[in-house]
Amino acid sequence: MKKMTLTTKILISLVTGIIAGLLLFSLKDIPFVEDYIIGFFLKLGGSVFIRAIKMLVVPLVFISLTVGSSAMGDVRKLGRIGIKTLSFYLFTTAIAITIALLLANIVNPGSGLIIDNMAKVGTSTSQPKPFVDVLINIIPSNPISAMANGNMLQIIAFALLTGAGITILGDKVSKVKDLFDQANDLILEMVNLVMMMAPLGVFCLIATTFASLGYTAMLPLLKYILTTLAALLIHVLITYQGLLVGIVKMNPIVFIKKFFPAISVAFSTSSSGATIPVTLETVQEEFGVSKSTSSFTIPLGASINMDGTAIMQGVAVVFIASVYGVNLSMGDYITVILTATLASIGTAGVPGAGAIMLSMVLAQVGLPIEGIALIMGVDRIIDMNRTAVNVAGDAVCTLIIAKTEGEELILK
Ligand code: ASP
Repeated sequence: MKKMTLTTKILISLVTGIIAGLLLFSLKDIPFVEDYIIGFFLKLGGSVFIRAIKMLVVPLVFISLTVGSSAMGDVRKLGRIGIKTLSFYLFTTAIAITIALLLANIVNPGSGLIIDNMAKVGTSTSQPKPFVDVLINIIPSNPISAMANGNMLQIIAFALLTGAGITILGDKVSKVKDLFDQANDLILEMVNLVMMMAPLGVFCLIATTFASLGYTAMLPLLKYILTTLAALLIHVLITYQGLLVGIVKMNPIVFIKKFFPAISVAFSTSSSGATIPVTLETVQEEFGVSKSTSSFTIPLGASINMDGTAIMQGVAVVFIASVYGVNLSMGDYITVILTATLASIGTAGVPGAGAIMLSMVLAQVGLPIEGIALIMGVDRIIDMNRTAVNVAGDAVCTLIIAKTEGEELILK
């Protein structure tokens, strides 16, 4: 018998995880199920997997970006790639939010909902940081604390400086360069080892999520969920497919097939940050993107490129406005496009961060921040899907940058 690929195994885990989760949801009153199956076995398998991947994020990003930027050979190339990457990330995010606003206006998901029914959902909002602080914060005052806190942008800044230093000193620090090169091979092998656990880990995470949500929680907000999912799908099918076919000249089916392990990890962890090791490995090994490009674009994308999050925020704004009976003007929509693009840059690649940043967008157009409470109950379902889109967007942009830099990509 042919050996099953990792992708197939993960796919089976996803489906069986959802079924098992829904089943456990209906059996939750039995203490054995709650305490042992969910509270012990699923928790153990899911948490060990997430922690094992997360364990690799900081060393991987630091090492591979240092290697990448020191391999670039010249600082101007780094600047050019940097500007191109940023422009692409912002461009796709603005398209994403526009699709979300258009679709949400056509479907009007908030119609027929009454606020009182939802009042008990409860919310935990904290104020997002002003944008100037987001910018200042890119430079770490202490790189060790940046690593200890897993602050991706700060780690990126420090790694770029280290790489630039290695490039300038050249042969004088050849041993340091070798050390980083070998450490890079080592950490990629560690990613492979951890990913062997992915089928089990994905199963446990998905089953836990569905065991706590069930389907009843989703019903009243089904229209909001479906509109958001549809906008995510349209963005993937039109924007990403268009870019893949038009610029990269890659068959989208090939892309999805090869990229699926990263999508499934994004889906089950709801964290772009935790998915970095898998995303990075996939674009390098499966698509042949150079280390120097991908080790810059992927961690950067995981912290600032959130097309899926922007889509959720767009639909949520229209939904909340309609539920509260507020009419949004054209100017409001433009404000939403601008702030949601900025908010998605400031959103951390961790579960639930996008819903917190939504408060910034709501505040900009004068909508009540309490509106977030309406969507909190179902946010996890959307988070899983939007994170998968966030991560796919990083990969698509990376392929475009690599292509336009003249790299030989693996297209089949
Ligand atoms: N969970 C998302 C991510 O990591 C961020 C969000 O909450 O929108 O990409």
